[in-house]
Amino acid sequence: VTEESISFKTTQIFDIDHFQQVFNNAHVCSENGRLEFIADTSPSVGLCHCNTLRCTNCGKKTPVTNFASIDPVKSVQQEPNTLLVIAVATTGISYNATKCIMSTLGLSITSEVAFLHQLHKYYDALHFFAAQKFQQIICELKHKYKKQKQIMNVTISLDGTWKRRGHVSNYGIVFLIHVDSGKCIDYEVLSLLCEKCNIRKATLSSKQFKKWYQKHQPYCQKNFNGTSKSMEKIGTMKLFERSLANGLRYRSMLCDGDSSAYEAIKYYYINKEQQQILGSDEDMHSVDSKDSSGEGSDGEESGGEDLLVIKEDCINHVTKRVMKHLTKLKQEKTQRIPATTTTMKSSTSLSSSKKQPARQQQLLDDNKKWGDGVG
Ligand SMILES: [Zn+2]
Ligand SMILES: [Zn+2]
Repeated sequence: VTEESISFKTTQIFDIDHFQQVFNNAHVCSENGRLEFIADTSPSVGLCHCNTLRCTNCGKKTPVTNFASIDPVKSVQQEPNTLLVIAVATTGISYNATKCIMSTLGLSITSEVAFLHQLHKYYDALHFFAAQKFQQIICELKHKYKKQKQIMNVTISLDGTWKRRGHVSNYGIVFLIHVDSGKCIDYEVLSLLCEKCNIRKATLSSKQFKKWYQKHQPYCQKNFNGTSKSMEKIGTMKLFERSLANGLRYRSMLCDGDSSAYEAIKYYYINKEQQQILGSDEDMHSVDSKDSSGEGSDGEESGGEDLLVIKEDCINHVTKRVMKHLTKLKQEKTQRIPATTTTMKSSTSLSSSKKQPARQQQLLDDNKKWGDGVG
């Protein structure tokens, strides 16, 4: 029952347990009283509604929200709205798509600005949470190997993934995985775009934009300027730059076929060491260390070999490559060739009991078939 007429269709979603609880405890006069439900039909923003239960006898009202409200209602985001933002954040669907889906059910959601604000807050919290979690994992690893107070050498595996497949995406993320434990210990997001910049660019004149950009620059989300293809390489470099601060040295690196990322950081720790030496006593080393950077030969001298990043190949990738070539080779060698061209000495005795095939398999040097028994 509603007091006002409903001019447009409104829907509410209810937490049934919460509703039941309020309903059971709501005041209603035992004689001549019944409960009247007064729906909140005011144009709402978001999924929260403040309905009322009213005793028809004495008129006493009991407020009933569709979800248990979190105080203060005005400034704290309420549960259904939070859940929606989290759902959007984890699935990656847009505000407009969400609004469209919700409105088909007669549900209205918060304004775009408020929604995106919440969404970004959620992403920030997630990023912060991940960073904390990574620190915890690194601490545990260092504790396990009793290397709490020194820089620990580890083997890592890197993998980049793109928002859109096929190396044409504007966003990429590079994950860094500690191989022995299989845990992710860091990641780097690379963006070819900044949404704020794009909006301003469209609305401001180039002069105004330049002025605005000067203030915006430190917060600009565009942190990468190159082809999508080189994203993995840049991401890898950024991850290596953070490694020593995390108390780790990525000594060995597991790669797939593409080695451009490896080439970029191969001498990272050697160069870093040289920079430190240069910083401490510039006069002594300034000449000879300059030309040795980037050279392969400097790995042998002054303990530099320990600092050279080693490339390791994933056994699965090697297996794949070897299998591909072996299968091809086997196919080539086991192609049936006309029987007339082979010498019939031993093969006749082998196949005399069976029907003589028109064509027969090419044999190995010891007259055995390919692929028979142990190779
Ligand atoms: Zn009453
Ligand atoms: Zn920007």
